[in-house]
Amino acid sequence: MWLRVLGSAAGGGFPQWNCGCPGCRAVRDGSRPCQPRTQSSIAVSVDYQRWFLFNASPDLRAQIESFPALRTAHGRATPMAAVLLTDAELDHTMGLLLLREGRELELHATVPAYQTLRDGNGLLRTLEAYCPVKWRTVQPGVPVELAEGLTYQAFDVPTSKRARFVVGAAPEGRVVGYRLTDEHSGGTAVYLPGVQDLTPSVLAQLNDCDCLLVDGTCWRDDELIELGLAGKTSREMGHMPIDGPDGSLARLAGLPIARKIYLHMNNTNPILLDDAPERRLVEERGMEVAMDGLEVRV
Ligand SMILES: [Zn+2]
Ligand SMILES: [Zn+2]
Repeated sequence: MWLRVLGSAAGGGFPQWNCGCPGCRAVRDGSRPCQPRTQSSIAVSVDYQRWFLFNASPDLRAQIESFPALRTAHGRATPMAAVLLTDAELDHTMGLLLLREGRELELHATVPAYQTLRDGNGLLRTLEAYCPVKWRTVQPGVPVELAEGLTYQAFDVPTSKRARFVVGAAPEGRVVGYRLTDEHSGGTAVYLPGVQDLTPSVLAQLNDCDCLLVDGTCWRDDELIELGLAGKTSREMGHMPIDGPDGSLARLAGLPIARKIYLHMNNTNPILLDDAPERRLVEERGMEVAMDGLEVRV
């Protein structure tokens, strides 16, 4: 299977429109080596013809145009077969509204994510006024064949982040990760752009995969507080930090996974700067930092 990173930044992108943090300044004025990045999403395919989108970011239109395999060649036929959601966060779902010109949208989402989008913030009810939405319920632990030779299994990612727009939903399934298997190559990949803690059940999903695309939102837990930009820690926002004895780098670097790639970086994260010592540390420990357009074959 091919995994294509469409957007590697967290919500807001890099740079973020209303941010003047050191990273956003550097990417605007070119004073440090770094690449701009759009908001988080990946596309997956086993034949390079039909593609499955994992999350639909507010930058989706530009992401489609920047990747020839997602462009429509004739008529209104799109190579995008479905969208799968990890949660109902706006930076992962606002792009759904940009697909309103479509004939029909196949949407894979858990019950809590679907309820939040339909009855909570109304995003899906707005979309449905333009384009029918065919909902496929994502049930953690249940394998689903997405396409010939491509299956996924979602797994619950426990979070204590305060949920907005929730409508009577159980906390289980609010956030999921996806484990993807190419039945022909036997290759497995895990997509986990939001993880608050590497609990034993989450770690069990990662152990024997070939490629891990994982939450790299913040370097430090108090990064946004330190910069005076927000009052919340990274963990309170549902993202475990990279640094520290209990951070993701210490927990993941030793795992026997061929490709371990950070994505969903917030614009305040110093690993976005190519010459930062934090970036060097990540790479020395055998992990990678995704850029928009990165393609991995598993
Ligand atoms: Zn996000
Ligand atoms: Zn910034």
